[in-house]
Amino acid sequence: MTNLRIGDRAAVYFYLVCGQCQWCRGGRETLCENFGGYVGVHRDGGFAEFISLPSENYLKIPDSLDYESAAVAADAVNTNWHCMRERARINPHDIVLLIGAGGGLGVHGVQVAKCFGARVIAADVSAEKLDLAKRWGADDTINVRAGDDVAKEVKRLTDNRGVQAAIDFVGHGETFQSAIDSLATGGRAVIVGAGRGSVAFDPLGLLLHEQIITGSRHSTRAEFIETMNIMARGLVKPVIGKRVHFTEVETLFEDLKKQSLLGRGAVTYE
Ligand SMILES: [Zn+2]
Repeated sequence: MTNLRIGDRAAVYFYLVCGQCQWCRGGRETLCENFGGYVGVHRDGGFAEFISLPSENYLKIPDSLDYESAAVAADAVNTNWHCMRERARINPHDIVLLIGAGGGLGVHGVQVAKCFGARVIAADVSAEKLDLAKRWGADDTINVRAGDDVAKEVKRLTDNRGVQAAIDFVGHGETFQSAIDSLATGGRAVIVGAGRGSVAFDPLGLLLHEQIITGSRHSTRAEFIETMNIMARGLVKPVIGKRVHFTEVETLFEDLKKQSLLGRGAVTYE
């Protein structure tokens, strides 16, 4: 069953979920217990002229939304939409720390956090990435490579209180530790980046300050549709650092390896 017609423009939801289990039926389909994997990893797709997927994975692109925006909505924005509304529960009176704020996911996270009215503190490893985060709305910046201690800087910037939400787009033990150490009373530390490592925390501290340490996994299809709609209204814009023809797609991977790509890379077919 599908509401799509031949010729419609569609974006691809890249999680292959069953649609039947308690998580799928309960509106948390990224936790699907019969998870089939990712489009582009467990099914061919992406840099191909044709792709075959369950019809439920195609979502109609709003008429006023261009392809690049829809592509960025599909991962970089909808992941943030889910994280900030459902997991970090960001409010206009919150101060939010974003670790890795100048990366492809992070720079869209800055915009989504501003959509929710938060004050944003951006942490990253280069002046160039922090400039990018600032250009897209970050209020304060912390340069990790320049020797700034993230938690200490956060305390300095927040009258010693800490932040209501700390979101880690990098996902290493060290970065998530900084997120936890930066929390205010009632704060939420959310892991989004898939790195490696471990963290330490004081259970009594969690109890006394009612802090939450949690994860956020991608987005549901409903959130993806919402994301495309807010982008169609211009509330979040795609940050494209580089465009290449599909015959030169390898150059984007080289840039990713060198960590020199700002925002997202776009592949064009014309
Ligand atoms: Zn399922």
